[in-house]
Amino acid sequence: RVVLGIETSCDDTGAAIVDETGLILGESLHSQKEVHLQTGGIIPTVAQRLHRENISRVVQEAIDRSGVCPRELAAVATTVKPGMSLSLGIGLHFSLAFVKEHQKPFIPIHHMEAHALTVRMLEPVEFPFLVLLISGGHALLALARGVDDFLLLGQSTDEAPGDTLDKVARRLHLKSHPDCCTMSGGQAIEYLAKKGTRHNFLFTTPMGQIYDCNFSFSGLRNQVSMAIGRKELEEGVKPGELLSCVNDIAAATQHTVASHIVKRTHRAILFCKERGLLPQRNPILVVSGGVASNTYIRETLKILTDATGLHLVCPPSKFCTDNGVMIAWNGIERLKEGRGILPYTEEVRYEPKAPLGVDITAEVK
Ligand code: ATP
Ligand code: FE
Repeated sequence: RVVLGIETSCDDTGAAIVDETGLILGESLHSQKEVHLQTGGIIPTVAQRLHRENISRVVQEAIDRSGVCPRELAAVATTVKPGMSLSLGIGLHFSLAFVKEHQKPFIPIHHMEAHALTVRMLEPVEFPFLVLLISGGHALLALARGVDDFLLLGQSTDEAPGDTLDKVARRLHLKSHPDCCTMSGGQAIEYLAKKGTRHNFLFTTPMGQIYDCNFSFSGLRNQVSMAIGRKELEEGVKPGELLSCVNDIAAATQHTVASHIVKRTHRAILFCKERGLLPQRNPILVVSGGVASNTYIRETLKILTDATGLHLVCPPSKFCTDNGVMIAWNGIERLKEGRGILPYTEEVRYEPKAPLGVDITAEVK
């Protein structure tokens, strides 16, 4: 059995064909990152136009590369939540027309579930496992108990870590830095941080007195922004000019983001252990999302998992970010379980906001 997966929830138009063993038969990805880098953020109508212009070609390319004909597909899986309305709409509209034409079952996919389960395509990770997703749109900790059974332990109460790093990079005018003008904000911060020291700036780790597994990054962004403002005054630098201490600010910012993520993850591990929610043998922490490609954050998390007896699993960067493969794989997982598969005649809507799984406060007293 093979599934076609389609992803358009944000700024990547992705399609892939994956089989039951996790073999990627064909894939294609069109990234809008460069366009959005020029405007300093995603403009929803621009993203929508680019998805519309590229979706047919991307899907056709994935199909052609796989050598599979639409008749042979077991189902089509598409991201329908959460994400940007205008972007989700293009993928869903295209998919519904496709399944109607080829009379195939349709599997609506939750984007964050797909991020959480991709790892199972690459290596044997059994349920239940703890998962940390850190990306441009999310920070969340969940216990994955089954293909569509997640216990949400915590999430960001304001912005996502990738978003914070992107905003700090913009505040530091890193687009005019000769070394990192083509990098995403997070990549640029990681690159510069390697050349700096974190000790020259001290930022407070967020939520020190809040004893749950949620995240908050906007306060940290304010702290960093204020420190940059003070340095600009000190150095007499005009907006758009680079500060001499840019590497040190990057290092301190990255360190505080890592420290916050690790502290919240530690709380989640302790909570799961206390309640016996993780298996005794080989308990696993899966980390994914664009920010998970950050080496410093990975290394800090490794120290935590070593100290708490968990096994840390991070998929390669390619599988941490958005693509059609993770959607197709989620379709395969659902097909195996026989869950959430709809006839092609069914009307489906997209949902821009959709929490992952059951919230901890609803389940645990
Ligand atoms: P979501 O899945 O929540 O909708 P998204 O798919 O837009 O979000 P991703 O593509 O997974 O997000 O990740 C993009 C984010 O990852 C950007 O904010 C970028 O700055 C950040 N990022 C990329 N590489 C690194 C890195 N090496 N270190 C830190 N952050 C990084
Ligand atoms: Fe994503």
